[in-house]
Amino acid sequence: MANDGISYSKTGLVAKMKENGLSYVEDGITFKLADAYGFCWGVERAVQMAYEARKQFPEAKLWITNEIIHNPTVNDRLSEMGVNFVEETSDGKDFSGVKRGEVVILPAFGASVHEMKFLADKGANIVDTTCPWVSKVWNAVDTHKRKDFTSIIHGKYSHEETVATASFATTYLIVKDMREANYVRDYILKGGDKAEFMEKFKNAMSQGFDPDEDLDGVGIANQTTMLKGETEAIGKLFQSTMMEKFGVENVDQHFVVMDTICDATQERQDAMYKLVDAKPDIMLVVGGLNSSNTQHLQEISEDKAIPSYWVDTADRLNADTNSISHKLAHGELVTTDGWLPAGDVVIGITSGASTPDKVVEDVMDVVFATKRALESAVSR
Ligand code: SF4
Repeated sequence: MANDGISYSKTGLVAKMKENGLSYVEDGITFKLADAYGFCWGVERAVQMAYEARKQFPEAKLWITNEIIHNPTVNDRLSEMGVNFVEETSDGKDFSGVKRGEVVILPAFGASVHEMKFLADKGANIVDTTCPWVSKVWNAVDTHKRKDFTSIIHGKYSHEETVATASFATTYLIVKDMREANYVRDYILKGGDKAEFMEKFKNAMSQGFDPDEDLDGVGIANQTTMLKGETEAIGKLFQSTMMEKFGVENVDQHFVVMDTICDATQERQDAMYKLVDAKPDIMLVVGGLNSSNTQHLQEISEDKAIPSYWVDTADRLNADTNSISHKLAHGELVTTDGWLPAGDVVIGITSGASTPDKVVEDVMDVVFATKRALESAVSR
């Protein structure tokens, strides 16, 4: 890919680690880099398309409907290039500033059918950077629709990608994890409290959804950044549910699943499992704090009980105080003092699919500065 200053730094530490068996040692700190990390193909493509749009429409006003990817560095860079972000209000997105002939960039995780139609009707010039893997999920949802099935979407109902995916379905239900999937399974097999069901999924179902009517035929779709293993397990759970309810010989009339799991997400997760199996003393997970795939990397590390710190920029670390403000996989931002121990330490490091290498390198720089500050305090 092009080196535009926010992507790969050829001379930086990340490049050095890649040349040196994915590790780097300095001042008693051994960094171990995951063997798949950072920018995925779809994000590289989206960022390149956005930069290209700026070049090809030098005079036009440029808009983007959302953060192009979940990374503050990339989004700041786009702002500097004069790309305007459509504002999110309590009533939804405010497109009032977009005028006919202006250029609107759709982000890597897509836009809803409604938004795309609205912008086309407005006469906007649309640059669609939706990742082809996300489009693949939309095709799966289209298949469900043609079969008159409900799309069971494994995702978070408020995530932009899931909002866009749901907009392609006629009938859908969004489940965020195995627990919710099991709840739906029980309802399909044994029935249950309909009012409770409706309350539980009130933000996560299509309008007019009726669990007593709409769960006889289901297809599986996913937010591409969810944990791969969990999506597969949810697919198997619904398949067995339909077999149990309708008979194994009839399952095809009640269930469909297609392979829509993005390779990049899978590769980063697999690399993370490998890295945590090597038992580093500490893990650093670098990526946007609203990035779903980064959250899952953090989750893998926390599950292995490795002290793990999820940060989006190097500004979260303070070398002088040896403190770090970081996010927990399912929590708020917290600050940990004394996070870097004295003495030799092995730190695993990885980054989410929308994180430029430069951000990882900035974080590593502050870690080394913290170590130096610690040592000079001891020698004083
Ligand atoms: S993580 Fe996968 S689906 Fe998402 S943008 Fe990257 S390649 Fe596309």
